[in-house]
Amino acid sequence: MADPTTQTCPICSVKIMVGSPGGDRVLFSSGPAGTRTKLWARVCQFNQKSGCINQQAKGDAIADDDYYKSEVPTGDA
Ligand SMILES: [Zn+2]
Repeated sequence: MADPTTQTCPICSVKIMVGSPGGDRVLFSSGPAGTRTKLWARVCQFNQKSGCINQQAKGDAIADDDYYKSEVPTGDA
């Protein structure tokens, strides 16, 4: 069993704990850890540069919960 290793995306400057139980965990600068899909929804899809270590999340189904709350239209104002 390998210990989780932490990789930092050179493009997005976000840390990803690879090999952690239950799947890779993304460590955001603020808020709770999330999934690679969440990182893609929040950061990587806007960068779209080669060298991003989260390209594999491209094409994943993104849930509303994966976006920043402020980016989800609620209808409330
Ligand atoms: Zn990235």
